[in-house]
Amino acid sequence: MGADLYHRLSLAKRVNGAGLLTRLGGSLMEAETLEAMREAAGAFVDIAELQTRAGALIARHTGTEAAIVTGGAAAALTLATAAAIARADVALMERLPDTDGMANEVIIHRAHRTGYDHAIRAAGARLVEIGLNDRGVGAGVRDLEAWEIEAAIGPKTAAIAYTASQDLRPSLGRVVAVADRFKVPVIVDAAAQLPPKENLRRFIEEGAALVAFSGGKAIRGPQGTGILCGREDLVASALIQMLDLDILPETWVPPEGLLARHFPDRFPHHGLGRGFKVDKESIVGLVVALERFVACDLAAEIAARRKLLENIMRATAGLEHGRTHAIRDIDGRYPSLDIGIDAASLGLDAYAVSRALQRHDPPVHLSERRAWQGVLVIDSAGLREGDDEIIAAALRRVLGTKAKIRSGAKEKI
Ligand SMILES: *Cc1c(COP(=O)(O)O)cnc(C)c1O
Repeated sequence: MGADLYHRLSLAKRVNGAGLLTRLGGSLMEAETLEAMREAAGAFVDIAELQTRAGALIARHTGTEAAIVTGGAAAALTLATAAAIARADVALMERLPDTDGMANEVIIHRAHRTGYDHAIRAAGARLVEIGLNDRGVGAGVRDLEAWEIEAAIGPKTAAIAYTASQDLRPSLGRVVAVADRFKVPVIVDAAAQLPPKENLRRFIEEGAALVAFSGGKAIRGPQGTGILCGREDLVASALIQMLDLDILPETWVPPEGLLARHFPDRFPHHGLGRGFKVDKESIVGLVVALERFVACDLAAEIAARRKLLENIMRATAGLEHGRTHAIRDIDGRYPSLDIGIDAASLGLDAYAVSRALQRHDPPVHLSERRAWQGVLVIDSAGLREGDDEIIAAALRRVLGTKAKIRSGAKEKI
C-alpha cells in the first residue's frame, strides 16, 4: 500500500548514496520494527508510563541513568536545553522560552556551531561562543583551552553544548573536567555518531550530562524519533516538559520511576516541548529498532555495503570524465567511495553532475560534502542491494560520454 501511495502522489523513489539524511527520509525500517509499531497502534496506553518504561530499556543500552524518546535529535537538544535552564522548577518551565532573568547562557566552542544550534536557542538560550577555529582553517595547533571555558562560566551559565564528531576536538574530557568543577551540565549532540555502537555509551562515559541521538539515522527507528539520555533529574525535566499535561493533580499519579522521583506532586501546564510529542507507535518502534541495532552484526553490514561499493568501482572503471578513488574505510563506520569529477573535460562541475544524477530515472543522490573540491562521495550507509547497479549506470551515463551529457544537460541545468 505504501508503494502505491508514493505512486499515487507521483513521487519518485530515490536511490540514496548520500547518507542517512532527514531530507531523503532518514533511514529504512526493518519489518520487525514495523510489526511492533502496528501492534502498538492497537491499544490505548498511558504515554507517560510508556516513555518511562521504554526509557528504562533504552538507558540500559546507553549506560545512562535515564532516557526518553524524543521527536528527533534536534528536539532532544531543545528539551535538553530547557531542562538545563529550568531544572526541576515548574514555574520556570511555565515561562520558557522567555528566559529573562534566568541562567540562560549556553557556552559553545566556536568551531562546534552548526545549523542545529537553532534547536538550542529555541528553548530561550543565548549562545556564548568561545575559542577560536585555528585547526579548522589550519592557522594553528591549539584547541579550546581550559581557561577559556572557565572564563566564560558565570552565574548565568545553564550548560555547555558540545557537538560530537569523528575526531572529537577539543576532547570531551577536557570540557567536562572544567564543567564538573563548576557543576555545569555538558550537552552532547551525537545525532549522527552511530555506528560505531560503542558511541551509544561513550559520551556519557566521558562525562556528558545529556546526550542526543537521532533515532531515524543509523538506529533505523521511525524517522521522526530521537533519544535524549543521561542524568535522571535532567531527563525527568525534559520529559515533563514534553508530555501532554492536561491532567488534574488531584487524580493523576506520575508513573513510578523518574517522574515520580522528581515530580511527585507539581506539574507545569503543557511545557515548551508539547509540540514535540512522540506517538506510541514511534516510541515502541524506536525501542525495537535500538535493540536490533545493538544486536546486529555490524561488521557484516559494513562488509555488505563495501561489496556494493566494490561493484560500483568495477562497473565504472574507465569513466571518461571522472574517476573513482580507493574505498574509504573508517573504523566501525560505513565505508564511502569518492568520485572525482573531471570538470575541465566534461564541461560541468560537481554541482552540475549532482543535479544531473538527481534527474536520472530513478533519481540518484550522492553526498555533496566534498562537491566544493570537485568530488562526489558515495556514502554507503543508505545503500540497498541493487542500488550499486543503478548508481553505476547513472554515473556511466553522466560521466561516460561527453556529447550526451552536454547536449542533454545544458539547457536543463
Ligand atoms: C541529523 C542531525 C541532527 C538532527 O537529528 P534529527 O533526529 O533529524 O532531529 C542534529 N545534529 C546533527 C549533528 C545531525 O547530524
